Amino acid sequence: MRAKERTFVAIKPDGVQRELVGEIIKRFETKGYKITALKMLQVTDEQAKAHYAEHEGKPFYPRLIRYIQSGPVVAMVVEGYNAVAGVRHLMGSTDPDKAEVGTIRADFAEVMEYNVVHGSDSVESAEREIKIYFNENEIYAQRKCMEELVVEYLDAD
Ligand code: UDP
Ligand code: MG
Repeated sequence: MRAKERTFVAIKPDGVQRELVGEIIKRFETKGYKITALKMLQVTDEQAKAHYAEHEGKPFYPRLIRYIQSGPVVAMVVEGYNAVAGVRHLMGSTDPDKAEVGTIRADFAEVMEYNVVHGSDSVESAEREIKIYFNENEIYAQRKCMEELVVEYLDAD
């Protein structure tokens, strides 16, 4: 049984600098997922360390921290059925050379280090990462259905 999940997605600084924000968001939206929170921000030292804590000590860690802070990122909460694995599938493998053609990383990234997009790897990671970047009151999971508003408007007179 597939559950509705939320996941944390970030368009990394290279994606923002290369004007790929619209293109990347479009892939999640056309898939059917809902963007329930969105903001552009400069990642702080504290956020970078918390986000990538699992990689501390690895050879690429210092470069990764520098990369994620090299310019603004676009942070999002994405919601949908099986969204954690689904977003990872749309993103493709960490290494763009191994990612399937048609995925974000295969289509828009050249090297593993600078791979344009981040997506949580599990429901637990998603909840942890969402907290690093968002307050619960910045997440708009419940929206009034537009159709209801239209009917309300049409019935008004
Ligand atoms: N990364 C890197 N070299 C590596 C592995 C990872 O520069 O050998 C970077 C890359 O930007 C990647 C991020 O570190 O997206 C986090 O690595 P992870 O293994 O968690 O990959 P992801 O979950 O992003 O696919
Ligand atoms: Mg990861």
